[in-house]
Amino acid sequence: MSVKIPIETSARHIHLSREDFEVLFGPGKELHFVKELSQPGQYLCEERLTVRGPKGRFENMAILGPFRSRSQVEVSLTDTRQLGLPGVIRQSGDIAGTPGCTLIGPMGEFEMKEGVIVAKRHIHMTPDEALVLRVRDNDQVFVLTKSYGRTVIYADVVVRVNRSFRLAMHVDTDEANAFSSDAEPYGVIVQLFGDNYDTHKWIEEELSGIHR
Ligand SMILES: [Zn+2]
Repeated sequence: MSVKIPIETSARHIHLSREDFEVLFGPGKELHFVKELSQPGQYLCEERLTVRGPKGRFENMAILGPFRSRSQVEVSLTDTRQLGLPGVIRQSGDIAGTPGCTLIGPMGEFEMKEGVIVAKRHIHMTPDEALVLRVRDNDQVFVLTKSYGRTVIYADVVVRVNRSFRLAMHVDTDEANAFSSDAEPYGVIVQLFGDNYDTHKWIEEELSGIHR
């Protein structure tokens, strides 16, 4: 059995460490809450930042709270082209060796050495939901999107399981624009193969005439 998985679009945003925040906004300053996001504990902040790359910049980029141990900028592949940075697809938090950028706040600026990522698309869910959907944390699944004449099957969608999560698939603005849907987009997990699949292998097989 499958269930409706709400699809939410993450526009470009920043997570900051407290140390980096104080460099940008001043010592002793705090984040100010604007509204809750779908994942419990996560919220949009009043504060905004400028992010600058070799070719371009984005002003007024949203900051999401609470503070994290490392700062991280999440953008789409289109955004990386505008900034003039390579697009590196990573899971949130996995920033070693990723491109950096300049962060500019009202009280200061600095070169962030690494941390600009294109977030790998993923689904947040609770352990109970994972049981129903017969998936495990870090599995990669296919998601068929409900659409009006522009359906997409997303491959390589990472499953992330945690008791504090709320069921939602997160895509960036490029991915959201790739399929046409209504105000409440959703998809379902589809099982195309057995437990372990590899899209590279699938392509090789199709090219050599093997059809599963
Ligand atoms: Zn997410």
